[in-house]
Amino acid sequence: MDLSTSDIAALTSFRRTLHQSPEVSGNEEQTAKMVRDALSALSPDQVVTGLGGHGLAACFGGPSPGSTILFRCELDALPIQQISDAAHRSRSEGVAHLCGHDGHMAIMMGLATCLSRCRPACGRVILLFQPAEETGAGAAAVLADPRFEALTPDFAFALHNLPGIPLGTAALKSGPVCCASRGLEVTLTGTSAHASQPETGVSPMAAISDLMPALTNLSHGDTDDAGFSLVTVTHANMGAPAFGIAPGNATLFATLRTLTDDRMKALCDQAIALTGQAAQDHGLEIDHRYHDIFRHCENDPVATDILATALDRAGISRDDTALPWRPSEDFGRFGAVAKSAMLFLGAGVDQPPLHNPHYDFPDDLIPAGVRIFEAVTRDLLG
Ligand SMILES: [Zn+2]
Ligand SMILES: [Zn+2]
Repeated sequence: MDLSTSDIAALTSFRRTLHQSPEVSGNEEQTAKMVRDALSALSPDQVVTGLGGHGLAACFGGPSPGSTILFRCELDALPIQQISDAAHRSRSEGVAHLCGHDGHMAIMMGLATCLSRCRPACGRVILLFQPAEETGAGAAAVLADPRFEALTPDFAFALHNLPGIPLGTAALKSGPVCCASRGLEVTLTGTSAHASQPETGVSPMAAISDLMPALTNLSHGDTDDAGFSLVTVTHANMGAPAFGIAPGNATLFATLRTLTDDRMKALCDQAIALTGQAAQDHGLEIDHRYHDIFRHCENDPVATDILATALDRAGISRDDTALPWRPSEDFGRFGAVAKSAMLFLGAGVDQPPLHNPHYDFPDDLIPAGVRIFEAVTRDLLG
């Protein structure tokens, strides 16, 4: 079923309305309400709300038994100030949809429109609007929600727009497609001193200044190499903004990134050994904490073939040269319960990168995304 011109106009308007009202991970209450209100006009069989936070799932079933297919999109925006003159720019100070999740939601609403007009011949389709993707918490929270058990799919699919490849083309491959990553917070504690007598204290200054390049130097290769690792120091803080005190504490944030979960374990061991040795060398106490833990995202070969067939049916060209992709995606968690795969839809070579303050989801991708997901549905469920 093709969307009409007025359908596409309505979906574009829905996307832009979402764009104006972004909410950060975990706070997507109004976004979830807007999605729920839009879905109510499409008469799904069931809508489950409050899933893993503000998540919601809409079910569209067919008249006979069959597989359950889940499509996932994301509700959350980013804590970044947008730079834009567009009429639909964010109205929330310091928060914006700079990853295109507004566009992904519009695609899902387009699929819901198709399904409401023509139900699958069998089985059921679950449209999951997932919270908190950007922090890596949302997929795990949805999967841990007791109500998810009744929604457990046989297949799970997602797409993410990808700036840097031609508009409307696709990137797809089986195996690892998004990296594992996690935030490492290192706290070093010594003893502060009068700035005139720094020798009476224990300063973390030498340790932290050594660790910034040393952690960075754990980086190796790129994603075409199974041993790929990347350490990005993202934040450092030492002592107080004062002139009379030699510092007694410091904090360092670094993002660790690898192609696979197995390789992440080795990189963590290296980072912990390095920071622990620096603390010992300088007489400091050390504490490590991990945040924003993403597993690597692995495309199942059968699910990847289903997406490839759907792309062919939708007339969308594909290659795999942009993959694996360095960023992380918590969609990989669905691989634990279903055959899962995600594809990447080109947002254009001139589009600013994701999370850039100038980024805006290209509306032209909405009908393309709907065509792909509808082709998957008809192939599997009729
Ligand atoms: Zn993002
Ligand atoms: Zn994203």
